[in-house]
Amino acid sequence: MKNIKTGVVDSKAIGQRIRADIEKNLEIRGKRGYLPGIAIVRVGRDPASEFYFNAKIKRAKEFGIEVIATTLEEDAREKEVLECLKELSNDSTVHGILLESPVPGHLDYKKLVNTIPFQKDIDGATDISLGRLMSGEETLVAATPLAVMEFLGEISLESGSLVSIINRTITVGKPLTMLLLNANYTPVVCHSRTKNLKEICRRSDAIVVAAGRPRFLGPEYVNNNSVVVDVGINSENGKIVGDADFESLKGIVKTITPVPGGVGSITSLIIFKNLLQAQELQEKF
Ligand code: NAP
Repeated sequence: MKNIKTGVVDSKAIGQRIRADIEKNLEIRGKRGYLPGIAIVRVGRDPASEFYFNAKIKRAKEFGIEVIATTLEEDAREKEVLECLKELSNDSTVHGILLESPVPGHLDYKKLVNTIPFQKDIDGATDISLGRLMSGEETLVAATPLAVMEFLGEISLESGSLVSIINRTITVGKPLTMLLLNANYTPVVCHSRTKNLKEICRRSDAIVVAAGRPRFLGPEYVNNNSVVVDVGINSENGKIVGDADFESLKGIVKTITPVPGGVGSITSLIIFKNLLQAQELQEKF
């Protein structure tokens, strides 16, 4: 790990680079009269998702992208949601569709999301997108694992490095494992039943923590050369804290991402990077 970036990773530079790329791409497409459109669908008004829903609409407008934002009633029937998704799937001006989760308890998120064509699945949430990722075919991938990859690229983590992921979910750990393998890293997927987790983490070159537990990752999990990528977003006494104990780790480890201002701060940009890729996929397939 000779040339690896050290200290606290500044996500501003990463965000600026991604934003500049998106803007340049949109300018070229705009000149050809071929700007992408995005559709965001939510069912009910989950207060925790409200901020993210509005932030995506705001960002789309900032980029000059057409956005169709739909809020269906909390008690919307499955048929109604399916009809809405079908209409957007068939709309040639819509290149990317996001179905906000969670959906109310009477609905089956997986069944609903799987009706979105993989070419428009900018959340990388459908079984087809996940299968294509697994088999190494071109596809759209969830923003959070892509954001982690941006950080590992930014700090120049050496190819082949051992990367422990504390999370095995379909939105974070599983797609991230595939991305890491495709980029020639050596992922180790850990979860709540993993034996000797601390030892595994200490032996790793990098640790991606997404345990959903505030300040879970403490000094006993790291060494002086550890790279820590914190995916966690927890609200504690009105403050946002990560899954890594940032204050105790920042003086010990080689590199660490902050929360807030780390992984979470670039995921909303990556959605729009995915939208551009979705438009390209629709030209190909
Ligand atoms: P989740 O569904 O609760 O999954 C947590 C994962 O961590 C599970 O795989 C679980 O193992 C594992 N885990 C929990 N406690 C553990 C322990 N003591 N030892 C080892 N593994 C343990 O959470 P999630 O939805 O994936 O989200 C995880 C975190 O990421 C949350 O803080 C969330 O807010 C954040 N997040 C951030 C973004 C972003 O854009 N930055 C996006 C999504 C989520 P089991 O599978 O065995 O239960």
